[in-house]
Amino acid sequence: MGKETLKVVILGDGAVGKTSLRNQFVHKRFAMAYKATIGSDFASKEVETQDGRKVSMQIWDTAGQERFQSLGVAFYRGTDVCILVYDVTKPESVTNLLKWMTDFIRQADIPNPDSFPFVVVGNKVDVSNRAVSKRQGQEIAPPTPPTPFTPTHSPHSLPLFEVSAKTGTRVDDIFAYIAHNKTAAKQTEQLYNPTISP
Ligand code: GDP
Ligand code: MG
Repeated sequence: MGKETLKVVILGDGAVGKTSLRNQFVHKRFAMAYKATIGSDFASKEVETQDGRKVSMQIWDTAGQERFQSLGVAFYRGTDVCILVYDVTKPESVTNLLKWMTDFIRQADIPNPDSFPFVVVGNKVDVSNRAVSKRQGQEIAPPTPPTPFTPTHSPHSLPLFEVSAKTGTRVDDIFAYIAHNKTAAKQTEQLYNPTISP
């Protein structure tokens, strides 16, 4: 059996730390200077799962177009897993995740949104001025569903990782979780039965 490749997209408001998360995971690097990413692109990294399977993670980052809301079909097409990132110092970045999720489901043309593997990430837990509790992060549910595509079981049941792209805390866990669950799911046809807990 050939090596599996997963296309992973990272979505969320500008400056929540999407590029930093990817750099921390792929290059083990962090830069405090803020540069809007130029041109959407992907970087790959191989992960070995607990049961010894090699998974190549193709991680797509936005080009800073998140400021203009939509990223376009090419960015989303063929996505296996979507990471939704908020900033624990910015409550509005949590509420905006619903918009990102809805846009993703529409643009990526996800046939079965209810079972699509989203992973929620609360970034910047190293800071002292935290404004979003873990509980609040888990409540990404809208008061009223804005579109017919809004997952019914979610967002309450979406896995949530609280991380720091700066210190690296729990960053690898996100991708280990994805590699393990998503690829195991592909084999059993049973989507997302988490065995690595967030
Ligand atoms: P993006 O627009 O979502 O790609 O966000 P960036 O990765 O460019 O990060 C935006 C800003 O937040 C930069 O100044 C980063 O240095 C900073 N940043 C990102 N992650 C963290 C983190 O975990 N902790 C802290 N303290 N700052 C972070
Ligand atoms: Mg960026």
